[in-house]
Amino acid sequence: MSGNLPPGVTPADIDRHYGPSLPDHDHEWEPVQGLSPVLEDMAAIFHEQCRFVEVVDSYTDYQRDETYYETGAECEAERHYRFELAYVETEEERLDRDDIDRLEENGDGQFEAALEAVIEAEQAFPDETEIIEIDPDQQHGQVIIRHDGVEIGYGPGVNGGDA
Ligand SMILES: [Zn+2]
Repeated sequence: MSGNLPPGVTPADIDRHYGPSLPDHDHEWEPVQGLSPVLEDMAAIFHEQCRFVEVVDSYTDYQRDETYYETGAECEAERHYRFELAYVETEEERLDRDDIDRLEENGDGQFEAALEAVIEAEQAFPDETEIIEIDPDQQHGQVIIRHDGVEIGYGPGVNGGDA
């Protein structure tokens, strides 16, 4: 590697910031702390970034039995994906997404009440809500919270809400 360097320049002198070339890799998604998920507009939105970092060199300290890594380019890929509102369940009834859509079409006052409960819960999330489950799996995951006696569930896809 050091064969291309001018005389007197060692690899340690090189600033690696220019022209980073990331090796091919499968993105290693992890949640962005504090941002995952965000609940808004009747959806749970997950925000993840890739934690892949190129390892350009490593050193082992045999006395301490520890290995140190010199890292190069970092992957900066991000992705968002969302779960849609799947159901709203009060003590009296459970409204699935289809029910909610129908109530909305009919201009039913029950829709306004359900929507209000959802918005209140979303604004209270996460500190003032009870978190029943957060499973970010994009195919089979779900988010379930409870607030003010109302349970609210989100899931992947609008049509797959029968899990
Ligand atoms: Zn990546």
